[in-house]
Amino acid sequence: MHRYHAATVAVRLLLLGAPGSGKGTQGPPLAERYGVPHLSSGELLRHQVKAGTELGQEWSGALDRGEMVPDDVILSVMEVVLASPEAAHGYVLDGFPRTAAQAERAEALLARTGGLDAVIYLDLPDDVVRDRLAERATAQGRRDDDRQVVERRLRFHHDQAGPLVDHYRRRGKLVIVDATGSPDEVALEIGRQLAARGVGQGRGDA
Ligand code: AMP
Repeated sequence: MHRYHAATVAVRLLLLGAPGSGKGTQGPPLAERYGVPHLSSGELLRHQVKAGTELGQEWSGALDRGEMVPDDVILSVMEVVLASPEAAHGYVLDGFPRTAAQAERAEALLARTGGLDAVIYLDLPDDVVRDRLAERATAQGRRDDDRQVVERRLRFHHDQAGPLVDHYRRRGKLVIVDATGSPDEVALEIGRQLAARGVGQGRGDA
């Protein structure tokens, strides 16, 4: 069924939200539902660090400190994965674009693949974000989930989220989803809102 979907209906989504808002939880099953890859910029960068590539070695410190890597770097990484055959029938982007400036620069790149169908913003209060990240620091040992680093990433998110969300709202792509529920509840709500927009149902593309 996924293969059938992948072969007939292209689905190109972007997941937005604070760190810990559930992008990493929702992204993979959402991508699987439509038979497309989950392209997480953070995962791709962490993979480069683990693999010890030149790029990974250069930016591992920035990742540990929760600092953004330069736009040129992330754009070149994403350009490669978006041009791969796996992404030809769509994707679920997670973590990129992360700023309005990146969104502007990504526009031409994403247009080459047909452009985004919808942008899902996972909406979660800061206090819940802090609690979730504290849990993740213990469970997964991610160094960028340390308290101080969490605050830095949250500040960055707040500075950037408004302009980024506006960018996609103006283009009529924005879907806001309440992310306080359980993963299943949030997944259901995402599915409901996408279905209401006709995403993944062969309307307008294929
Ligand atoms: P994430 O897993 O999305 O929270 O990303 C983890 C880290 O990867 C971030 O704190 C940044 O250091 C880096 N990163 C991920 N996506 C981007 C992006 N779009 N622009 C710049 N840096 C990024």
